[in-house]
Amino acid sequence: MKYVIANLKSNKNTAEVADWIQSYTGKKSDAVTAILAPSLVHLTQVSDAGDDRFALAAQDVSQFPMGSYTGAVNARQLKEIGVQYAIVGHSERRRYFGETHAQIANKIAQLLDEGITPVLCLDTEYIVEQAAVMDPEHQKKIIVAYEPLSAIGSGKNQDVGTVTEVVKEIHQVYDDQVPVLYGGSVTEDNVREYSLVCDGVLVGGASLDPKHFSRIVAAITA
Ligand code: PEP
Repeated sequence: MKYVIANLKSNKNTAEVADWIQSYTGKKSDAVTAILAPSLVHLTQVSDAGDDRFALAAQDVSQFPMGSYTGAVNARQLKEIGVQYAIVGHSERRRYFGETHAQIANKIAQLLDEGITPVLCLDTEYIVEQAAVMDPEHQKKIIVAYEPLSAIGSGKNQDVGTVTEVVKEIHQVYDDQVPVLYGGSVTEDNVREYSLVCDGVLVGGASLDPKHFSRIVAAITA
């Protein structure tokens, strides 16, 4: 099974999200799980669309449970609206919002408590540090996305040899069964090489165009 995640980040309005869904041409398949991660305000819209060609992911979650945490959206609330996956620890969250390894570990715990699968983003330097603050049981229940900072949004995708090595390291530190994805300037032209050495891809820029994302999904199973 391969995973292909569209991370729309803080992009698109309601009409554009509706258009994305309509323009996506991927088909439901046993070989690939396509996952759409729209911004928080569009999660209900996508869930209500009831489109079974892709699963639904949040781009973040509160590190706290339900309660007095103004502005936070918790895992139980995400679960209630049909969220199945949640990205945590994206480098943009770490860089612009100051998220720490410990906070990310708490988010993972919250998600697993609600039966939502965390997609943990890691650059090489964080692999061991992040695992050190996590419950060892949680390390087995996640999807890991290897996302080298230099490759994100830069057009400079990581060479496949390095990805192969890092996937091995992630399997040694976490669990050899966890799916490991690659993320960083993935396009329809390079996705195939990554799909041969890991369990799928996390796509930012190229996922904004639903037609391009559809071709990535098609290429990964070709
Ligand atoms: C990302 O930000 O997670 C990402 C993979 O972005 P891009 O595909 O644009 O490099």
